[in-house]
Amino acid sequence: MKPDLFEAPDYYNLDELYSDEHKLVRDAAREWVKRDVSPIIESYAQKAEFPKQIIKGLAEIGAFGPYIPEEYGGAGLDQISYGLIMQEIERGDSGVRSTASVQSSLVMYPIWAYGTEEQRQNYLPKLASGEFMGAFGLTEPNHGSNPGGMTTNYKDMGDHFLLNGAKLWISNAPFCDVAVVWAKNEEGRIHGLIVERGMEGFSTPETHNKWSLRASATGELIFQDVKVPKNNLLPNKTGLGAPLGCLDSARYGIAWGAIGAAMDCYDTALRYAKERVQFGKPIAGFQLQQKKLAEMITEITKAQLLAFRLGQLKNEKRATSAQISMAKRNNVEMALKIARESRQILGGMGITGDYSIMRHMMNLESVVTYEGTHDIHLLITGLDITGINAFK
Ligand SMILES: Cc1cc2nc3c(=O)[nH]c(=O)nc-3n(C[C@H](O)[C@H](O)[C@H](O)COP(=O)(O)OP(=O)(O)OC[C@H]3O[C@@H](n4cnc5c(N)ncnc54)[C@H](O)[C@@H]3O)c2cc1C
Repeated sequence: MKPDLFEAPDYYNLDELYSDEHKLVRDAAREWVKRDVSPIIESYAQKAEFPKQIIKGLAEIGAFGPYIPEEYGGAGLDQISYGLIMQEIERGDSGVRSTASVQSSLVMYPIWAYGTEEQRQNYLPKLASGEFMGAFGLTEPNHGSNPGGMTTNYKDMGDHFLLNGAKLWISNAPFCDVAVVWAKNEEGRIHGLIVERGMEGFSTPETHNKWSLRASATGELIFQDVKVPKNNLLPNKTGLGAPLGCLDSARYGIAWGAIGAAMDCYDTALRYAKERVQFGKPIAGFQLQQKKLAEMITEITKAQLLAFRLGQLKNEKRATSAQISMAKRNNVEMALKIARESRQILGGMGITGDYSIMRHMMNLESVVTYEGTHDIHLLITGLDITGINAFK
C-alpha cells in the first residue's frame, strides 16, 4: 500500500467549533491510525484477519468506552470526542471501527447502563483496557431487521439460567471473551445476559467468505444448554428497547465513522487527480472530474455538520433515535457514493490494494446494512414524521 499522506478536509472550518480536548483526542487517534493501522491494514484485509496487535493501541487512544466514566476504566469523554475517535478509526478501516464500536457501545454501554455495580466493576475495566474483548448477539439466522422475533431463549433452572439458541453475523465473535446476548425468558420478554467464553455449550464459529469488513472477525454465537449464572443477567432494562438503546449509541458512532471513510476516499482521489496527467493535463483539470470532487466535498461538509449538531444534542441527552437513524443513513450512503466515485477517478489503479478506496467501498457495503439497514432507517424517519408504522 502507498504511504498514508492523508490530510483531513475541513471546508467549513469546523475545527473552530471543537474544544481543545476534542482536537487533542482526534489528533491522537489520527496519528495512531497513520502509524499503526495504515501500514498493515491492507494486508490483513487481503488475508481476512483481524490484526489483534492493534487492540492495545485502540485502548490507548480511548476507543474502548470513550464516554464510559473513568472510574470504570473508560475515557470519560463527551459524545463529540467519541464521534471524532470513530471518524479517525474508520478513516483507517471500517472493520477496525466496527471492533471498537462493538466493544464500546454494544458491550460496555449495556453493562454500564443496564448492569449491576458488581457487573460494572467486573467487566468494564477489562473491556476498556482490551484485556477482554466483547461481542453483541442480537441478530439471528431468521431474525435480522426484525430482532423482536428472536427465538434464542433461557429458562430459570433455580440456581442458574439455561440458554439455547444461535446468533449470526456477530462482530468479534471468533475471539470474544464475553458476549452480551439478547434472549427471551419463559414469558417471551427480552433480557440481556453476559455469556463468557469457556461456559460449556457455548461456541463461536467464524464466518468466512466475506468480501467486506475482511479485517474484522465475524462469526456465530451458538448456545446449547449453556448454564449462565443468575448474576450474569443485566437487570436494569428489558424488552426490545434495551438492545435498541445500545444500537442508538453505536449508530451515532457510525454516523461519524462513515465520514472518516469518505474523507479518506476524497483525499486520495483529489491527490491522484492533481497528479495523474491525461491528454496533456492533470485529470483534476477536466470538468467531469471537478464535478465529482466538488460534489464530494459538499457532501462531506454536510455530513460533518450533521454529525456535529447530533453530537451537541447527544451531549445534552436530547438526540432522538430517529435523529440518529437519519444521520447514520445519510452519512453511510454519502460515504458509499464517494467511495464509488473516488474509485472511478483513480481509473484502473482504483481497484488495487495500493490505495484504500476499494477496501473502503467494500467495507461500506456492510456498514450500510448492519446496525439497521438503509431501508429500515428510512422507515424510522417515515414513522417519525407521519406517525404511521410502515414496517409491517
Ligand atoms: C459484517 C457484519 C457484521 C455484523 N455484526 C453484528 C453484530 O455484531 N451483532 C449483531 O447482532 N448483528 C450484526 N450484524 C447483523 C446486521 O445487523 C444485520 O445483517 C442487519 O440487521 C440486517 O439483517 P439481515 O441481514 O438478516 O437482513 P434482512 O432483515 O433479511 O433484510 C433483507 C432486506 O430486506 C429489507 N427489509 C427487511 N424488512 C423490511 C421492511 N419491513 N420493509 C422494507 N424492507 C425490509 C432490508 O432492508 C434488506 O434490504 C452484522 C452484519 C454484518 C454484515
